[in-house]
Amino acid sequence: MIPFRDTYRDIPLYSPAKKPCRVDLSDNTNLFGPPPSAERVLREEGLQRLSRYPAGYAPDLKRAVAAYAGVAVENVTTGCGSDDVIDCALRAFLEPGDVVAYPDPTFVMVPLYARLSALRPVPVPLKADHDVDVEGLLATGAKVLYVCTPNNPTGTVASRAALERLVDRAPGVVLIDQAYVEFAKGGDFMDLARTRPNVLVTRTMSKAFGLAGLRVGWAVGAPALVAEVEKARGPYKHTSLGEAVAVAALTEDVPWMEACVAEAVENRERLRGGLKVLGLEPLPSEGNFLLVPVPEARRVGEAMRERNVNVRVFEGLPGVGDALRIGCGPWPLMASALKALKEVL
Ligand code: PMP
Repeated sequence: MIPFRDTYRDIPLYSPAKKPCRVDLSDNTNLFGPPPSAERVLREEGLQRLSRYPAGYAPDLKRAVAAYAGVAVENVTTGCGSDDVIDCALRAFLEPGDVVAYPDPTFVMVPLYARLSALRPVPVPLKADHDVDVEGLLATGAKVLYVCTPNNPTGTVASRAALERLVDRAPGVVLIDQAYVEFAKGGDFMDLARTRPNVLVTRTMSKAFGLAGLRVGWAVGAPALVAEVEKARGPYKHTSLGEAVAVAALTEDVPWMEACVAEAVENRERLRGGLKVLGLEPLPSEGNFLLVPVPEARRVGEAMRERNVNVRVFEGLPGVGDALRIGCGPWPLMASALKALKEVL
């Protein structure tokens, strides 16, 4: 018998349903596609970069992120998607057996990464108004508190008052996941990452910037925090192509990104109107997606997939129940979702 690790015995492989589907609204990516600079960078620089290793710690990407976020290079770390940055941060700041606490429901990868590092994930229910329960989170005594805002899958946001109280009183690091912040009205907590010693804000190139396939994420925090996360991650975690394309996008394509965001947000609210006509009541959202409570979500989601529309199904979400999460982008895709939903409800 091979002595596999006990910790992993009951941990399933994470694999969301991914049958090919003409309209895929299941993972909150930029449905307008990749940024315009990507094609040029791949054409002009792609091949020549392939035979050389990238720099170990992505200096070009860090410089581009620092300029974009208005921080110093020493405040920036990067990873293979913000997933990786979150995973590394958990390992950097916690010993096996330690607790990581987070509002529930939230991003499903957090408890999974916690378990993979032999940590103890402790969910704390979101409050009825969808804000974070500061006292509940602090009562766990966790040395890492994770808060996602705008939150996946609810789309709701944490209030500044609650987050500041949490940061003031946390015994350790507050990890603020802002994968969807570009889509939000306000609610940007980069200022806390710049000024507080215990705040790490994670961001991604996968959503508004349309580069999910590249796997590039980043975080901003005090230099001491960032250095620990890099230690936990190790070197060479970006491809040289990924780094080059991400740098170009951050430098040249912010206006393009903002135009995509504006249209996704407009269509999100138009979609909300269409869903209400069907008698559904989506949660308020500041992301590029809507969470829509729907009875028998699995059956409904499967029937939609048969009509070539893929949305994410949630069953028994705390405080919500069964629900579908629908990514927002070009209106024709939203119209396909509405049509499929109307047929199957
Ligand atoms: N945080 C949240 C809240 C997400 O929804 C996602 C992607 N689903 C991520 C982080 C990870 O994104 P990536 O690894 O592509 O940066």
